[in-house]
Amino acid sequence: MTTLRLAIVGFGKIARDQHVPAIAATDGVELVAVASRHASLPGVPHFTSLQDLLSEGPPVDAVALCTPPQVRGGQAAMALADGKHVLLEKPPGASIGELDPLIELATRSGRTLFATWHSRFAPAVEPARQLLASRRVTAVRITWKEDVRVWHPGQSWIWEPGGMGVFDPGINALSILTRILPQPLFVTAAELSFPVNRDAPVAATLSLTDVTGLPITAEFDFRQTGPQSWDIELDTDAGAVLLSAGGARLGAGEGVLVDLAKAEYPGLYQRFVELTATGTSDVDLAPLRLVADAFMLGRHRIVEPFED
Ligand code: NAP
Repeated sequence: MTTLRLAIVGFGKIARDQHVPAIAATDGVELVAVASRHASLPGVPHFTSLQDLLSEGPPVDAVALCTPPQVRGGQAAMALADGKHVLLEKPPGASIGELDPLIELATRSGRTLFATWHSRFAPAVEPARQLLASRRVTAVRITWKEDVRVWHPGQSWIWEPGGMGVFDPGINALSILTRILPQPLFVTAAELSFPVNRDAPVAATLSLTDVTGLPITAEFDFRQTGPQSWDIELDTDAGAVLLSAGGARLGAGEGVLVDLAKAEYPGLYQRFVELTATGTSDVDLAPLRLVADAFMLGRHRIVEPFED
């Protein structure tokens, strides 16, 4: 097997915390360059833009785009046009429409476009999907509440148009739910709380359902201090199921079926290496569509200013 020569573009929190160690832990891929305006990694060739990397850098087969969603579409188009495989951090774009030309470009050039959903690689997600396959789910409650000041310090892009505010973490819950439930889901109502000084919501409440009328509620909040909540509770015909800790823990009834602090990104890179071997794309837009519909259907509430 040839080794995939990969460059990280946008060397911020997630690139540093997760991508670098995951690449080092995954067979078949090596980090050969970083393109980031300000940040670099000692010992790895550095370029201040993707354009400079592509024109002056070492040969690369693939790029992992870890920049904010507002700039990722243009970078993905540039990389695909240059014959590179592309890994997109979540959410895959700032809009749904911008993904269509990228999918087409990837298909035409026989390159991989991988829209990643890292939470789907959490250790309890696949066991949850298998458990639920033999049960009838009767209600779902999502509680996804975290402290933005702890998890997204100084990330001004998250509050700008296309940054999605509280949906930046909330979409992780939706990526899990759309994976573990068998039917497509859709939004029926939403309330989005916009701080008066921000262009993205700090909190949101969603009602969703499926073709069977399954009642699903989701509470997202960026103002959570103290204990953080990344929980999905499901009522089923065979008792309660709780997927908690962002998908690391699965409980059913009184029992704990999975409780594992296992990193998500090595599995994600393993999948990317497999996809690039055949130039196959994997772009599931279901979670992004739910967020877009929440913005489209949602009632807007203006709330007190929010300062980082
Ligand atoms: P971040 O810390 O702000 O890093 C993004 C980096 O991209 C910045 O450090 C910056 O590096 C570069 N960048 C910012 N604005 C740019 C622009 N306008 N043009 C070009 N480059 C720009 O953000 P992050 O937390 O790593 O998040 C990046 C993506 O990963 C987001 O979509 C997020 O949802 C996703 N993600 C984040 C987490 C997390 O826990 N933080 C977890 C999973 C996924 P330079 O200034 O050096 O260019």
